[in-house]
Amino acid sequence: MPPRAAASAAKRTRTSASTAKTPAKTKDAGAKDEPPETAAPMFARTPQIKMLVGAHVPSDGKGVSNCIANTVSIGGNAFALFVKSQRRWVAPPLKTEEITKFKDMAAEHKYDLHKHCLPHGSYLINLANADDEKHEKALASFLDELKRCEQLGIGLYNFHPGSTLGLDKKAALERLAGSINSAISQTKFIKIILENMAGHGNLIGSTWEDLRDVIAMVDNKDRVGVCVDTCHTFAAGYDIRTEETFAKVWDDFDRIIGLKYLSSMHLNDSKAPLGSNRDLHQNIGLGFLGLESFRVLMNTKHLEGLPLILETPDKDDIMTWAKEIKLLEWLVGKKADDPEVVKKTAELSALGAKERASEQDKMDKKAVKADKKKQSTLVGKKRKAESDE
Ligand SMILES: [Zn+2]
Repeated sequence: MPPRAAASAAKRTRTSASTAKTPAKTKDAGAKDEPPETAAPMFARTPQIKMLVGAHVPSDGKGVSNCIANTVSIGGNAFALFVKSQRRWVAPPLKTEEITKFKDMAAEHKYDLHKHCLPHGSYLINLANADDEKHEKALASFLDELKRCEQLGIGLYNFHPGSTLGLDKKAALERLAGSINSAISQTKFIKIILENMAGHGNLIGSTWEDLRDVIAMVDNKDRVGVCVDTCHTFAAGYDIRTEETFAKVWDDFDRIIGLKYLSSMHLNDSKAPLGSNRDLHQNIGLGFLGLESFRVLMNTKHLEGLPLILETPDKDDIMTWAKEIKLLEWLVGKKADDPEVVKKTAELSALGAKERASEQDKMDKKAVKADKKKQSTLVGKKRKAESDE
């Protein structure tokens, strides 16, 4: 599910986000006025923190450097962006002044573009497409985005592995890996990051095994990695809600793919239940994952130093993410039974209760329908067998 970053750019209004109110004592200077055009921080960045939380920020149509301004405004220690319009195949080349401005701003605000910046690929790109013409178009667009990243000095690039479109899975994985090999041979240093998916339809990457199989076919393994999205993981059926289940999921990931390939995470709560296969991002603490999942995550050693990117609904305002960043950072070092954590968990959970109930209801109805269909097929088969006798 795309963050509504681009769409929200134009309608940036005064913050109304009570959803992820931070318990940290940070002055919300943006609450009364329109956010200024400059990179003046409204939420100060937390210095020397090992868990690098940020968000997928919009450029507001002002060029990629504005993504850095927005990240500074929300106190992000990492960020994601689109390097060209995510819903178009082609875009005009990056202007030299914009490239310089982007690099200068990153240096000024001490964002390491090889480690803290995780661009998101266009949603149109499907490198697994069996149609030669469509595949060629996708690969050209993919390469264009990678080259833009390298021009900007960015070291990571995250994208969705694509869809088999109902055709042969093995062939689709081979086509995807072949495309990655081709892209690596035509670029200099960028690491290509495969994102895990929620398991809907023919999407590739909803299991660790899919990602393992693609990586196995990539020649230069130093230039491939994995981004784990918490919402997608949960929707795909991996339970990450407790210390025990969270640890087990990482054990499996390490055994099947290898932790050394873990390059980043997307932090999203899930509007839909475990195993729903639905990619519905929710604000932190309001969904089926709940704040406890993120408390466990924020205290996981092997996630230190990785870009941890929010793609939660922004409620029309980037300040939603500023508050979520502070909320997540506040969880570092906290125990599950900390009274403040217990209180905050309940507060946020209550805010999302209605939406959770509605999604649970949809899933239950779907299960009943599927069960009825199964039963009627069984009865049909039985009747046919009897009449055949
Ligand atoms: Zn994601």
